[in-house]
Amino acid sequence: MPKVSEGVYFIEGQDEMIPDSHTYVLGDPSSRDLSLVDPGLTRKGSYKLDAIKKMGIEMESIKRVIMTHTHLDHIGCLTEIQKRIPSLELWVHLEEARPLEQGDERTVYGMAMFQQMCQAQYGLKPGAYAFPVDRKLRDGEKLGLGGIVWEVLHIPGHSMGSIALYEPSQKILIPGDVVYADHAIGRFDLHGADGKVLRKSLLRLAELDVKVLLPGHNQVVKKVPPGYIQKTAQQWEPYLT
Ligand SMILES: [Zn+2]
Ligand SMILES: [Zn+2]
Repeated sequence: MPKVSEGVYFIEGQDEMIPDSHTYVLGDPSSRDLSLVDPGLTRKGSYKLDAIKKMGIEMESIKRVIMTHTHLDHIGCLTEIQKRIPSLELWVHLEEARPLEQGDERTVYGMAMFQQMCQAQYGLKPGAYAFPVDRKLRDGEKLGLGGIVWEVLHIPGHSMGSIALYEPSQKILIPGDVVYADHAIGRFDLHGADGKVLRKSLLRLAELDVKVLLPGHNQVVKKVPPGYIQKTAQQWEPYLT
């Protein structure tokens, strides 16, 4: 499990026909208070937990899962993870906690066609993605996670309840699927998505001082050039209407 910086670890997603999100492990292992950010796609949980175990970390040290958002490629393997760590808490932004608790799976699958495809591919029954949420996150909250304080930013547009986690002292940003390396941004054609809203969220992220970008997919960027997110937002502006 590669270390990004103090108390921040990275487990690369294993994309197949459907992408699998990266998982970030937050917290100093000695704190025994670790958080998993985005466990990943259906059937893509066990190898990630095995990677953590190989570091000599006990599963009981993992206290919670924090979702940047609840698309299938991020939340798909949650049941698998919960089976191995029954005491695990689930933290989700308020806007996506509500449908998740009610079993409204439109956000999870994003579109009806994808829902049918995934249900057939993985043998998932309707209602497979209904979960009680232990903590409903709000914009501006500060979370003390295993010795490090992270700020929650609500950045809708890719999905209704997308959040970023930001750590100002090391200038680390975990933006989920809102912005990636190579000036790419998240899709804005899925259920609950909105290009105009995504633009606003990008501009909000552009105000942060970001040195390390840890997105949900593709490359991790350890030296983010100044103005990177601003430039990304500008390039996409004509499409974000
Ligand atoms: Zn997504
Ligand atoms: Zn994703």
